[in-house]
Amino acid sequence: MQLKIYNSLTGEKEIFKPILDGNVGMYVCGPTVYSNVHLGNVRTFLSFDFIYRSLTHLGYKVRYVRNITDAGHLTDDGDVNNDRFVKQTRLEKLEPMEIVQKYTVDFHKVLEMFNLLPPNIEPTATGHIVEQIELTQKLIERGFAYESNGSVYFDVLEYNRRGLNYGELSKRNIEELFANTRDLDGQGEKKNPQDFALWKKASPAHIMRWNSPWGEGFPGWHLECTAMSTKYLGETFDIHGGGMDLKFPHHECEIAQGKACNDTAPVNYWMHANMLTMNSQRMSKSTGNYILPMQLVTGENDFFEKPFHPAIVRFCFLQAHYRSVLDISNDAMLASEKGFIRLMEAVKVLQSVTPNDEKQSGFSLEEWKNKAYDALTDDFNSPVLIAHLFEAVKYIFALKDGKETISKNDLEGLKSTLNALIFDVLGLQTIEENNNEKLDQTLKVLIELRNQARKSKNFELSDQIRDRLLAEGIELKDGRDGTTYVLN
Ligand code: AMP
Ligand code: ZN
Repeated sequence: MQLKIYNSLTGEKEIFKPILDGNVGMYVCGPTVYSNVHLGNVRTFLSFDFIYRSLTHLGYKVRYVRNITDAGHLTDDGDVNNDRFVKQTRLEKLEPMEIVQKYTVDFHKVLEMFNLLPPNIEPTATGHIVEQIELTQKLIERGFAYESNGSVYFDVLEYNRRGLNYGELSKRNIEELFANTRDLDGQGEKKNPQDFALWKKASPAHIMRWNSPWGEGFPGWHLECTAMSTKYLGETFDIHGGGMDLKFPHHECEIAQGKACNDTAPVNYWMHANMLTMNSQRMSKSTGNYILPMQLVTGENDFFEKPFHPAIVRFCFLQAHYRSVLDISNDAMLASEKGFIRLMEAVKVLQSVTPNDEKQSGFSLEEWKNKAYDALTDDFNSPVLIAHLFEAVKYIFALKDGKETISKNDLEGLKSTLNALIFDVLGLQTIEENNNEKLDQTLKVLIELRNQARKSKNFELSDQIRDRLLAEGIELKDGRDGTTYVLN
């Protein structure tokens, strides 16, 4: 089985060859934790979660690194005074690291709700200031960067003068770039408007600041990803991912920094996930066309007529290929809900199917499996994979109605393949599973309340909690490591 990956750098689907046989190093740009992630952000992270799960399922040992951007990430207009963290600290009257903590916790909670696996390493930009200063020094020493008024800039023209090609990823022509750039950032400090900041001098109002050889300042956003990806994955690694909108300038700058530092391209396969739109408009906080993940799940929003379970949202996202735009709407969600319910019902029905080795079947498990894995290995084509799952669903209902047959071996094979593809690879969860989680949380709260009652010698209340739960078929067991429960 050969895995093909669409490489944004070459614009082609290529056969995937990892640097180290059987191993994959993958870096994905993480969130800027200055506000709640919106559903669009979730789509990008979910796309890479599916890719991570697929690679693991296909037998690769993956080191998956996804960072947290918690140091100054300039706004799009490049104005230092508009630093997102600084603005938010003023707005919420919180310390910068309180903002970082608050939204990092929110980010983790949201991703857990959609059943995303945590990465293997989740480095923060603030935890890698030393590495960023070292990289900046190296770039100055190699003649690719210059200091100006306490800031350090990458010299794009010098990079091109040495035969390197700034613009190779976004397919932009450097002359065009120079003609179209307004010099808002740097205000006369830069040699050329296209030069980008590796280190920025902190203005007196800037709270997040660190000492450096160039005075107090903070690192540039592009540099943090180069510092963290190469630290944990090496000077050249296999896969770098992120949303389509990060191709330029962020990823273009990462390539330039990597090549200028190490004389080698930092990444072999660049992967870009496409955007989520809502009612045909790109989801973005700045236009107001956005929904927070929790609002979709609770139903508290003006866009959808009812709440949708996170597993259904996940299923809906995976019904589009990661490189296609996905438009989310009320109708799309309702259709996904219907599909999801049918798929899960088929999984249940399959448990009670009895095999019959005597009769021939029109369904070939081997052929079906090949088609499903062809889709998965064809640049992680989740919609085609799901379409094949529904062929199996049709067959399962025909088995239930006695219109089809299956041998004992095939039944086991179908069960294990379906489970692997639905739960491990697509990362879907049955809705009951989530209800169990809720029950578990509720019981833990009750156990805690009972312990508090016992501590304050309110034995009447503590016994009442135990007896009432027992009457509902839930037995509390007190042991040396605390209280557990058994569902009878
Ligand atoms: P940020 O926190 O702004 O750096 O964004 C985090 C990730 O979300 C980046 O990879 C973006 O490309 C991605 N992203 C932002 N808006 C959308 C959208 N509407 N659809 C999909 N991904 C998005
Ligand atoms: Zn990045």
